[in-house]
Amino acid sequence: MSLLLELDQVTASYGSVQALFGVSLSLREGEVLALMGRNGMGKTTTISTILRMLPLKSGALRFAGRDIAGLASHQAARLGLGLVPEGRRVFAPLSVRENLIAAARPGAWDMARVVALFPRLGERLEQRAGTLSGGEQQMLVIGRALMTNPRLLILDEATEGLAPVVRQEIWAAIHALKASGLALIIVDKTLKELAPVADHAVILERGTTVWTGDCKALTPELTDRYLGV
Ligand code: ATP
Repeated sequence: MSLLLELDQVTASYGSVQALFGVSLSLREGEVLALMGRNGMGKTTTISTILRMLPLKSGALRFAGRDIAGLASHQAARLGLGLVPEGRRVFAPLSVRENLIAAARPGAWDMARVVALFPRLGERLEQRAGTLSGGEQQMLVIGRALMTNPRLLILDEATEGLAPVVRQEIWAAIHALKASGLALIIVDKTLKELAPVADHAVILERGTTVWTGDCKALTPELTDRYLGV
């Protein structure tokens, strides 16, 4: 499979405050990458940089064979970069149906396919999004991102704070998305649920890639050193 995304020694700053000091990672079509690291180590900043919401200071950023370092975020989205951001933002006054329609772009994903992935949304198409449970809102946010027909979907803490049953539903959907051939980057704290779906992992420490490899190679020593509290 060909290379879909490549970051090579990427650095980035919030104004004068540097947050990324050398992030390198790569992902092929259809692969799932776990982006890991303790709080504040630069995972969300790396995602913001990939999605062109934060300027690159140096390094290289390529997506689908193109240098995208100079693109604006709407241009990156049009190329097929999709995001499920931290914090579950839905359009609260709009219905589930309207939330999905508002995100739609031509491609393989439509409302019927989202409803097949998340049947709970199908039962609630006319309900106002603001009145959904936290888990249902997260399903809607994932559904909205899919409606844009991404080539790469990035999930930032998609299961954070959700009840175990709902977490399982979201992980099942993630497995189904992988099986459909979609490339994914997943930021999540639970290695137990990440490891079975992720092909490989990248660990960040203080804005730098410090480890890259197969999830199965993440020994307790490594997780203690890089992910322990
Ligand atoms: P978490 O798991 O807590 O979300 P993270 O690994 O995603 O952590 P980032 O949010 O990327 O970490 O933060 C990386 C560094 O950048 C931190 O030192 C953080 O304080 C800083 N930072 C994040 N957002 C901003 C901002 N808007 N302005 C200035 N500094 C920021």
